[in-house]
Amino acid sequence: MPKKVLVLEDESSIRGFIVINLTRAGYEVIEAESGEEALELLGRHTDVRVALLDIMLPGIDGFEVCRRIRATNTSIGIIMLTARSQEMDKVTGLMTGADDYVTKPFSPAELTARVDALFRRAGGAVAASGENSGEISQPPFLLNTRNRTLEKNGTRVKLTQVEYSIMKMFMENPGKALSREEILDLVWGRDYFGELKIVDVNIRRLRLKIEDDAQNPIYITTIWGFGYKWGF
Ligand code: CA
Repeated sequence: MPKKVLVLEDESSIRGFIVINLTRAGYEVIEAESGEEALELLGRHTDVRVALLDIMLPGIDGFEVCRRIRATNTSIGIIMLTARSQEMDKVTGLMTGADDYVTKPFSPAELTARVDALFRRAGGAVAASGENSGEISQPPFLLNTRNRTLEKNGTRVKLTQVEYSIMKMFMENPGKALSREEILDLVWGRDYFGELKIVDVNIRRLRLKIEDDAQNPIYITTIWGFGYKWGF
C-alpha cells in the first residue's frame, strides 16, 4: 500500500524540497499550492494519512484548511509548517486540530522524523502496550481500545489519534502524576524530538472535548511545575 502524504505549500522551492525528501523516504507525495486545492485533493485521495499544511497562503489559510479537514476527518495526521518568527502560530495551529508543527527552515532528517512518527500513529499501527483489545471503563468515560474510540456518558467524543493516545495513557495510569517529559515519551515516542509545549497544547485541546468546564478541569488536572494527572 502506498504511504500517501499531502503537502500544501505555495512556495514552489519549499514544496520541492519537501517532496524530494519525503519521496526519498518512501512516501507518495500529493502536492497542493492552495488550501482549496488541498481540500479538493483530500476529497479524492481518501487514503492520505498525513497532511503538511503551510499557514500563509494566497486563499484560505492553513488554519482554516486544518479546521475544515478536522470537521470531517479525525484520523488523518496534520503537521503545520510554521515560520520561526511566528511563535503564536504553533499554538493556534494545534488548537485548530493539528497534531504537530515543523518550524521553517527544517532539515530533511527533522521533516522525515516528524512525518514518520505521525504516519505510524495515524495508521493506528503503533504497538499498543499490553492488551490491544477491550475497554477501559472509568465513568463517565469508556475507552474502546479495539476501535480507538472514547465515549463520555454514552456519547462519542471525536478525538484525533494523538488525543486518543493521550486519553489511553491517562486512563491506564489513573491517579498517577505524569511529568510532561514522560507524557512526551509515552505518546509521541522516545525518538521524537519535539518541544514540551506540544504536550500542553494538546492537553488544552483535549480538555475542551472531555471536561464539563475546560476552564476548571476535574478529569485532567495540572500539577504545577511538573505535569498532569488523570484523577478526581
Ligand atoms: Ca506560504
